[in-house]
Amino acid sequence: MSGYDRIYLASPHMGGNEQKYINRAFETNWIAPLGENVDLFEQEIASYAGSNGALALSSGTAAIHLALILLGVGRDDVVFCSSLTFIASANPILYQGAIPVFIDSEPDTWNMSPSALRSAFELYAARKKLPKAVVVVNLYGQSADYNQIKDICDSYGVPIVEDAAESLGATYHGKRTGGFGKFGIFSFNGNKIITTSGGGMLVSDDTAALEKARFYSTQARDKAIHYQHSELGYNYRLSNVLAGIGRGQLEVLDERINKKREIFERYREQLQDIDSIRFMPEANGCTSTRWLTVMTIDPDATNKKTYELINYLQQYNIESRPVWKPLHMQPLFQNIDYFRYNELDVSQNLFYNGVCLPSDTNMTENTQDFVIDKIRAFFHQR
Ligand SMILES: *Cc1c(COP(=O)(O)O)cnc(C)c1O
Repeated sequence: MSGYDRIYLASPHMGGNEQKYINRAFETNWIAPLGENVDLFEQEIASYAGSNGALALSSGTAAIHLALILLGVGRDDVVFCSSLTFIASANPILYQGAIPVFIDSEPDTWNMSPSALRSAFELYAARKKLPKAVVVVNLYGQSADYNQIKDICDSYGVPIVEDAAESLGATYHGKRTGGFGKFGIFSFNGNKIITTSGGGMLVSDDTAALEKARFYSTQARDKAIHYQHSELGYNYRLSNVLAGIGRGQLEVLDERINKKREIFERYREQLQDIDSIRFMPEANGCTSTRWLTVMTIDPDATNKKTYELINYLQQYNIESRPVWKPLHMQPLFQNIDYFRYNELDVSQNLFYNGVCLPSDTNMTENTQDFVIDKIRAFFHQR
């Protein structure tokens, strides 16, 4: 390992058949946001995720946006959302002029805390301002606790949008993520476990709702020969060329998941003697894809800081990052309601103490050993 090549958190990793499907689009001249690759990619994702249908879109963000539109989220409506996540989970709430309310994580999964969610519901029910939807995020390849979360949401009759952008292929009590809410969304951005360079998918058992989403995603064009529009639409479809990449990628998804889990195990085994390091837990009944290996530094066991580790690794051209900065801490969301786990702010602590490590399936064992060496050297320096 020279150390000159950058070592990434996650980079695109082609399987081999992507080019074949792209060529098919070229041969048939379907260089358009429709065609065979799009249709088949939708069917394949729906069947993989165990949903009745799927709609291929230009991004995961677009999928969340359409889900909120279909749930009737509009101006001044309230939407509950996980706080510990990428901004894309919540931006579509703002697109609709609605008001996000953020929910803390639980220590077991790092995902939405059912008890914090219950507190939020109790308060907003008392205010007679129930949310129109709850956006639940599956972080870093691990499912949220849907048995509990669904019970709470069902008891108030509020639908779930499952943000499974980071968890394609993860399971919760034997069922793959994406199908636990009224709508589920996936992302095929370049850093995700499989990629189309950019793209997303909306999945649901409600195929009529998906038809409506298809309508909104193609500029809401009325059924007429002339161009007529009665509703506001968007240009959100995935191109047939990119869907070809997705089809090739889906063929190697399970292989990628196995590799991600091997990468995690190697870190865990080779760093387990460092007392101040912990790893993201895998909750009972869940299989995480370990999209990213994430560790935390125990502040009671060492005075070493996450930023020092990140800067240290950077010297060797190794990419590492803090855990997502929680949305309730973002300048964009000042004065937004937030429900903590208990007196502890779990997501804030994870942000302060968490580091995402290179989890690139393109990485060789030698390269990972180089990263592990540098992490060990960091913790052993005085
Ligand atoms: C990547 C990601 C998204 C957005 O996906 P895009 O395809 O980049 O729009 C949404 N939510 C989470 C949690 C993500 O990690």
